[in-house]
Amino acid sequence: MALDYSTIRNLEITTTIKDNKKEGSLLWVLDKTKSPMGGRKLKQWILNPLLQPELINYRLDIVEKLNNNLYITEKLSKLIDFIYDLERIGTKIVYNTVNPKDLVALKTSLSKLPLIKDSLLQLDHPPLNDLANKIVLLDDLVNIIDKGIVDNPPTHVKEGGIIKKGFNEELDKLKYTAENGRKWLGEYEHKLRLETGIKTLKIGYNKVFGYYIEVTRTNAHLVPESFQRKQTLANAERYFTAELKEYEELILSAADKIIQLEYNLFCDIRQRALDKINEIQRNSELIAELDCFCTFAIIASENKYTKPIVDTSDEIIIKAGRHPVIEQMIAKENFISNDTLMDCRDNRMLIITGPNMAGKSTYMRQVALITLMAQIGCFVPAKFAKIGIVDRIFTRVGASDDLSSGQSTFMVEMNELANILKNATKKSLIILDEVGRGTSTFDGMSIAQGAVEYILNPEILGAKTLFATHYHQLTSLEEKYSGIKNYSIAVKEENDQIIFLHSIIPGGSDKSYGIQVAKLAGVPSPVIRRAKDILHQLENGYGSNNEVAITKDDDLFSHAFEDYLEIIEELKDLDLNNITPIEAMMFLSSIKKKLERR
Ligand code: ATP
Repeated sequence: MALDYSTIRNLEITTTIKDNKKEGSLLWVLDKTKSPMGGRKLKQWILNPLLQPELINYRLDIVEKLNNNLYITEKLSKLIDFIYDLERIGTKIVYNTVNPKDLVALKTSLSKLPLIKDSLLQLDHPPLNDLANKIVLLDDLVNIIDKGIVDNPPTHVKEGGIIKKGFNEELDKLKYTAENGRKWLGEYEHKLRLETGIKTLKIGYNKVFGYYIEVTRTNAHLVPESFQRKQTLANAERYFTAELKEYEELILSAADKIIQLEYNLFCDIRQRALDKINEIQRNSELIAELDCFCTFAIIASENKYTKPIVDTSDEIIIKAGRHPVIEQMIAKENFISNDTLMDCRDNRMLIITGPNMAGKSTYMRQVALITLMAQIGCFVPAKFAKIGIVDRIFTRVGASDDLSSGQSTFMVEMNELANILKNATKKSLIILDEVGRGTSTFDGMSIAQGAVEYILNPEILGAKTLFATHYHQLTSLEEKYSGIKNYSIAVKEENDQIIFLHSIIPGGSDKSYGIQVAKLAGVPSPVIRRAKDILHQLENGYGSNNEVAITKDDDLFSHAFEDYLEIIEELKDLDLNNITPIEAMMFLSSIKKKLERR
């Protein structure tokens, strides 16, 4: 299923709208993968839901089996946790950029495959047996890396320290020579100290001059003739002897040979990995998939999800559905579950009205997310779900400015609506949240109704649609057209307070409770009081031209209010510790003047 940019964004599938973070998105809830390639695979699955019921049910059956055998699934998940980024290591092998550390990671990862395979076969489930049989065990490769490369090798390939003792005879001999040479140096230093009587004499090494005998300047007169001067420092002289020179050649050539030989041996092992690259990449793919399956099974159990029935019907039936993300954000038991019934017949379009903050957006997104989750082969947050596969999910949700592209809020809204109307089909699921609110009431309402009629018409579109609106007038369409069902979100009113019940009930609502919500949000009480008056006048049909009446009153009101706000701000900014009595008097008088103007 192709998901367009606005749907991915509006449904917060991989990141949140507000701060573009993974936390708070669907991916955040579902992604408990253990391996990097599993994480990438899951993201790919979420962004590409499936359309064929066989493929979806193949995934769902596997998840069900794993969910019914959580002990084994947890074990699998722990084994996958040991597996490194095989996909990335595979790419490095192909490009010859793999380093010794990568090969050890490869060994660790591949060595877990037999255990994974056994656990899978233990489940005795045809699709999982199939998956297990596709895993290719690469014991020879594991063995050679294990025998050849030290357990904690460097990332460099040309500095030695890579190959284990006992892997190559020639290398071991060279290492013996080099080691012996070093031992000889220690003994030679001791011998020279005794012979010369210079206690501070020492043998050192640097890259430019090689090995040298260092004697402090004060002891230089004690140096025997056999010492030949090599370098003079401020406080010391450096010498060499014929014997030292001989050993130097031995040690240095052994060291060079060791590095070269270690590199060659490493390249041989690397080649062995390259010979098995197809198998490595196939295993990586299988582990990524298995990681996703285990994740789905584990979160299904942790979050109490159920296996949806997925078919090609036109129905979406959800019992006690929940929003997968919101239920994680608030205490789970506080989330109110809701049912859904949609089809392409009597329940094509659900018009949802209800107060602000009641949960309309949450409910609509929940239906979309449950559908999407079902189509990626994941269990869903509901007691029961039957999902007739949809070909696209379209969303037009909330206001989103796109000023950087030079579009106003309303323009963005209309662009999204146009895209939906042009591209949706009868098999699509459309979510429309407050279409038309970015313009004047009458324009907005007309556009909303026009869109409803267009989508509803089976001759033109007839797609299943969830439509949330504050235009209560639209609820009258239920009587006019078949296929529309009105729903609202229940609230309780108590002493001018509203309590959100968050449960969806049949029938439209005729109140938005916007003013109560504004009060809850902390809008100053003069505004709330004034808004109530205006609402009262409107509800009682104030004049025939309400908009004019409001504008006239409102102008007076809003100017007064601006002055009050200004005075409040000035008072807040006043630093009482730094003001003289005269200044205080002047300040008071300026406030008084402002108030007298009203
Ligand atoms: P508006 O009309 O102002 O856009 P709305 O009706 O779309 O509001 P939502 O944004 O869906 O309201 O929900 C507001 C808040 O109510 C959510 O952030 C969530 O915390 C809470 N809420 C929504 N639905 C539920 C639910 N079913 N159970 C518990 N809490 C919920």
